[in-house]
Amino acid sequence: MLACGRSGHVTYAPAEADVRHQLSARTAESGDAWRCLRCGTFVTGEPQLTGPAAQAPAVRRGQEIRSALILRVFAVERFVRALVAGVLAFAVWRFEYSRQSVAAAFQRDLPALRSLFHQLGFNISNSKLVGLIHHALTLSPTTIKLVAGGLAGYAVIELVEGVGLWLTRRWGEYFAMVATSLGLPYEIYDLASKVTVTRALFFVINLALVLYLVLTKRLFGVRGGKHAYEARLRSESVMEAAIEASAADRAEAAETEQNAAAETHQNAVAETEQNAVAGAGQNAAAETGQNTAPDLARATAEADTAPRARGS
Ligand SMILES: [Zn+2]
Repeated sequence: MLACGRSGHVTYAPAEADVRHQLSARTAESGDAWRCLRCGTFVTGEPQLTGPAAQAPAVRRGQEIRSALILRVFAVERFVRALVAGVLAFAVWRFEYSRQSVAAAFQRDLPALRSLFHQLGFNISNSKLVGLIHHALTLSPTTIKLVAGGLAGYAVIELVEGVGLWLTRRWGEYFAMVATSLGLPYEIYDLASKVTVTRALFFVINLALVLYLVLTKRLFGVRGGKHAYEARLRSESVMEAAIEASAADRAEAAETEQNAAAETHQNAVAETEQNAVAGAGQNAAAETGQNTAPDLARATAEADTAPRARGS
């Protein structure tokens, strides 16, 4: 698997002997092998980590690796937004500080620039940039500071979203989802007033992120919520499978033992019965012996008395 090739296998020896047995194998030539918690193959050599099974590292596999990759693409896009907004905030803030010199330069150089561009065939009086600078120079210092503050705030929000998504933390997913959703109504309003490629693109990206987070991360209880999300993670985990298999083995062993115990008990009962029968036999034999003894005595006595009777 790609992730194991890049960052190596993850082997873990659980402290519980029965779980350890599930995750290890003995090879003839190279000793013990341990099952990688990510790709599931057996890797020879000592386990990297050891400890209770419950404290094994949570390793992303399959679907989770793809999901983390997608979230990181979104995270990069958020970092770019944060950077652009941050630079703009700084530029607007600097502009307010040097408004006088900007205004002076604008007044001084604009006619020269205008004639230069005019000779090149452009009319920069209609240029958007010139219009924007001209407009900015008419704004009050308070408005400029508000714009700078707004841009800085946006940059911080995008940065937090980016960090949260990059680390694929649950708080980050919630934060990104809520912050992005709050921007959607404005984006729809923006699109309704005028459709541009940039606006449409930003809207699609944001909508996709919100839907992706809510559906695959099961935020706000969607599709079973956190409980179902974690259950799915557990169902994919090699360690969880080993724990379950060892529990199943234990149950089976317990059943076998019970059966064995029941058999032993039955044998014991049968033996006792046999002994009882044998005992009864012996008793019967002894009794017969006892019964025969008087007869013998009687017979002997009779024999003894016979000659006497004959003799008298
Ligand atoms: Zn591996």
